[in-house]
Amino acid sequence: MVANHWTVPNNPIGNVPPVEQDRCGWFQPRSGIRPLAMPTNVAVWRLVLLGAPGVGKGTQADLLNQRLDACHLSTGDLFRAASKQKESDQSPAMQAAMEHMRRGELVPDSTVWEMVRERTNSIRCSSGFVLDGFPRTLGQAESLKQLMEGERIPLSAVINYELPLSAIVARLSGRRTCEKCKAVYHVTGNPPKIEGVCDRCAGKLFQREDDRPESIAVRMDVYERSTAPLIEFYRAQGLLVSVVATGSPDEIYAHTIAALRARA
Ligand SMILES: [Zn+2]
Repeated sequence: MVANHWTVPNNPIGNVPPVEQDRCGWFQPRSGIRPLAMPTNVAVWRLVLLGAPGVGKGTQADLLNQRLDACHLSTGDLFRAASKQKESDQSPAMQAAMEHMRRGELVPDSTVWEMVRERTNSIRCSSGFVLDGFPRTLGQAESLKQLMEGERIPLSAVINYELPLSAIVARLSGRRTCEKCKAVYHVTGNPPKIEGVCDRCAGKLFQREDDRPESIAVRMDVYERSTAPLIEFYRAQGLLVSVVATGSPDEIYAHTIAALRARA
């Protein structure tokens, strides 16, 4: 359930503890991969979502995924899934990624790309797909372009969620996370019933290192340098659709669908 608009990409389905996010059918629509013949009156969208940390992109990815019944491919989900699997169940790319993470290193582009390529099926999904958290760099975007060209599957659009920096900082810096169940709150947008205490499990709420103002500045800087060039990349291909990420998740979702329909 998407409970509020303060949820951010590292908790893509809202105030649900990570264990409950552990859907086994990640990259499949709930009804399974449909035959390629789709009713012609149903729009099939193949989407990439872009947006700075804190714009609520993960929440939108989840709504789009549910309501369009599309395949959802989130690199965040991939990493979370991998971390819970036995090593013997992990693909070679997953094992390599886990090894980098254990050493506290960034997972290199090529490894992330391998992880995505292992999921090529989700790109072939006949009810469309939503890519969230990928591509993050120009190199990854170019790899994806080649893969899709090879599959003769075109992207429908790249949605860029926009929000002023001050609003992003307010969202992220007000976040509080439960140390026990990892539920996410916001001091003004989605406060717990008792300040500093989790509604769900009575655990203590804390501010994650990532959500401190100095960390937010670093995250925004990383985003600007690596991901923002993707905006130009997709704009040049005529794929970019900008959506202002203010309002409730449902309002942002409605803006997204309206923008996509206007394009189609
Ligand atoms: Zn809790």
